[in-house]
Amino acid sequence: MKVTDLLASATKPIISLEILPPTKGKSIESIYGHLDPLMEFGPSFVNVTYHRAEQIMKKRADGTYEKVEIRKRPGTVSICAALMNKYKIEAVPHLICGGFTKEETENALIDLNFLGVKNVLALRGDAAANEKFFTANPNGHRYAEELVQQVLNLNHGKYMEEDIIDGVKTDFCIGVAGYPEKHFEAPNIETDTYYLKRKIELGADYIVTQMFFKNSHYYNFVNRCKENNINCPIIPGLKPLTSKRQLTTIPSIFNVEVPVDLVNELVKSTAPDAGDRIGEEWLYQQCVDLLKNKVPVLHFYTLGKPQVVYNVLKRLF
Ligand code: FAD
Repeated sequence: MKVTDLLASATKPIISLEILPPTKGKSIESIYGHLDPLMEFGPSFVNVTYHRAEQIMKKRADGTYEKVEIRKRPGTVSICAALMNKYKIEAVPHLICGGFTKEETENALIDLNFLGVKNVLALRGDAAANEKFFTANPNGHRYAEELVQQVLNLNHGKYMEEDIIDGVKTDFCIGVAGYPEKHFEAPNIETDTYYLKRKIELGADYIVTQMFFKNSHYYNFVNRCKENNINCPIIPGLKPLTSKRQLTTIPSIFNVEVPVDLVNELVKSTAPDAGDRIGEEWLYQQCVDLLKNKVPVLHFYTLGKPQVVYNVLKRLF
């Protein structure tokens, strides 16, 4: 089922999760171990992130170095198929422009269609680890909107090879990313909103937000979208923040604000499990407030902290 249909047919707020593929060499059991307990709450869909390859310098036997490309977290497409098969829920693979040619993307979409995947989240992706700014693959896309267009093309049966006539029409529901506190590269909120609107006007179906720790950022974003005639579902992205270290890593990686009360609580905490308790309480209060304000769905970035998300869900439902 499409994410938009799941949202439209829900009679109460639904739950969704986001996971990362395991690092290369690890078993898919690590994902199941992560998700099994959370299935108690009947999540409607699970997003699976996509990770571009990285170039690293590897030392040869003779002491010289060579540049090699490694993909630390392969497997997004197959994990989606495995999750749909095991849990009978929808899986939403992320697709990124960075590091991929248009042809590779088309082939991935064909695989996903064959596997019965109905949803994708179309993203640009971040700059490569060794680059300061995002550079598109010479045969790839520069912006998420171009990727949205490619998925739409396939939904219309339009393949890259022009001599394919009457090509199978896929029927992907397309999500895109939105940034309540602005994408870090955008010069201002208005410009960012303009490009977000373009993705929706082009044909994307819904927005998933970057994480936020202050609900007012989400509410302001939803209002801004409405004022700009962006009328699709806007799924709030939620993440537990549970350690002092994350007080600096999260703002620097995701460009989001950590509210002063949450900072103070974590800074003054000393007990070994205090971080998890503080993060859980903060996330729980965020969810209570969002549910009070009638959000249709709570989307959890479970990344490494499934127990905290479990505790929050247990208290909520
Ligand atoms: P875009 O929509 O292309 O926007 C990027 C920037 O360019 C913005 O500043 C925008 O305002 C501007 N812009 C957009 N279109 C144009 C245009 N036509 N001309 C000029 N400027 C333009 N990254 C991963 O690598 N893998 C993942 O699995 C992943 N999952 C994510 C899930 C969510 C919910 C979110 C919020 C982010 C995720 N990311 C992931 C990170 C994301 O790829 C980065 O934030 C990336 O920098 C921007 O992606 P985007 O799709 O928002 O890009």
